Amino acid sequence: MTDFKSSLNEECGIFGVYNYTQAAELTLHGLHQLQHRGHDGAGIVTYSKKNLLNHRGVGLVSTVFNKGIEENLFGDIAIGHVRYATAGKSEIKNVQPFISQPKKQEAPFAYAHNGHIVNSDTLKTELRNKGIEFQTDSDSEILEHLIYEGKHELFEDNLKSALSRIKGAFVYVVLKERQLFIARDPNGFRPVSIARLKDSYIVSSETCTFDMIGATFIHELEPGELVKIDDSGIKKEFYTKNTNLSICSMEFIYFSRPESTIGGVNIYNARKRMGEYLSKQDSVNADIVIGVPDSGIPAAIGFSKESKIPFEQAIIKNKYVGRTFIQSSQELRESSVSSKFSVIKEVVRGKKIIIVDDSIVRGTTIKWLIYLLKHAGAKEVHVRIASPPFKYPCFFGIDIPSTDELIASKMNIEEVCSVIGADSLIYLNIENLIKSINLPKTTLTNNGLCIAYFTGNYPIDLCDCAINL
Ligand code: 5GP
Ligand code: MG
Repeated sequence: MTDFKSSLNEECGIFGVYNYTQAAELTLHGLHQLQHRGHDGAGIVTYSKKNLLNHRGVGLVSTVFNKGIEENLFGDIAIGHVRYATAGKSEIKNVQPFISQPKKQEAPFAYAHNGHIVNSDTLKTELRNKGIEFQTDSDSEILEHLIYEGKHELFEDNLKSALSRIKGAFVYVVLKERQLFIARDPNGFRPVSIARLKDSYIVSSETCTFDMIGATFIHELEPGELVKIDDSGIKKEFYTKNTNLSICSMEFIYFSRPESTIGGVNIYNARKRMGEYLSKQDSVNADIVIGVPDSGIPAAIGFSKESKIPFEQAIIKNKYVGRTFIQSSQELRESSVSSKFSVIKEVVRGKKIIIVDDSIVRGTTIKWLIYLLKHAGAKEVHVRIASPPFKYPCFFGIDIPSTDELIASKMNIEEVCSVIGADSLIYLNIENLIKSINLPKTTLTNNGLCIAYFTGNYPIDLCDCAINL
């Protein structure tokens, strides 16, 4: 059985380059822009003169690539990865991209994964029973062994049958000789897009990277799609027709950068609309609207616009304190939250304040901020959250803790309000969340979004996945 408290819950970001003279350097640039998707490890693999060259390490992109190492990664094709793992699992062997063990005189291939495979325990047991040994603790490695199980002559046919056996959330990039493959799972949980840069192709988890390197977006993969890029160009096909779009709503709420676009929807605009709808849900008499940096700010701006209550910057975030969310203990989380934020007293003193954040998970952040605001002389603090209460764990690659750590799964809204010390607390409702994101897929369930954290209705049947619900 998978124990989600100790398992590897990976969010991650991927980047790929085809036909660019210094592919590794461009990939490094891309990984810097995707750093928010994973702090625990980074790596790049290139293909040069029939060899796969690689460098990987634990930590931030700037730590791993601190000596100009990318200059020795020759080749015009590259894939890169940033990894997010829960605390304690940052071992080098789990840092991607992985390189396959060569088999039957075949050239090895490199691959990287973003997401979480829900039938990994079942598949691993099946493969181990056939004598296969795993080199890593990661669910991502399954792909390699499934490819080698394939009986087809062509690598890409074995890749397609391997992908069809994997259940869950995945974007895979696979580099095999002069071929670059990109695959998105049948639910399209995680985003991935392709752009052109003159004669080169760029692949990225998020479109924000394209603008920064001057590339032009050409295509977001559809669920169940496999794209192959080689010297003859780009080929798109579907490895399965059994698809059911359910893009992770957390990509819009918290995870992706505001400059990025998923499914045709810009993240900043979606967050702003969340604030607007939140403001329409009730009216409260207040002097100012403030947002929790960084991801709560667009929603606070939307809230202010709709309510006509002025927006102020009252909370300052220290840029040099890392993410508090992934600290291993509650004490560590509390101490880093307290060094992460400070309040401008002159803005809040004597005021009735509306504070907007994107989400409450354990309640650590908002509780501390309310304390700081009241300590600085705020008269009232009304909390508005730009997503519905998080009640259920995620099995598709977002690091949502187990239910007993989710404050909204243990308490009702009044209880949460009183524990965090707020004067009132309102969450965006599910209907308004879907309207705010506004994916143009109106014929699909939830407009093509996964909202399982709020409803407990998972878009994939998990009963044969050896998961403790
Ligand atoms: P809490 O302090 O309530 O446990 O977490 C809420 C804060 O964590 C919010 O400010 C939100 O921006 C952030 N957050 C929400 N989901 C995630 C996540 O999946 N990963 C990380 N690192 N932060 C998150
Ligand atoms: Mg936050």
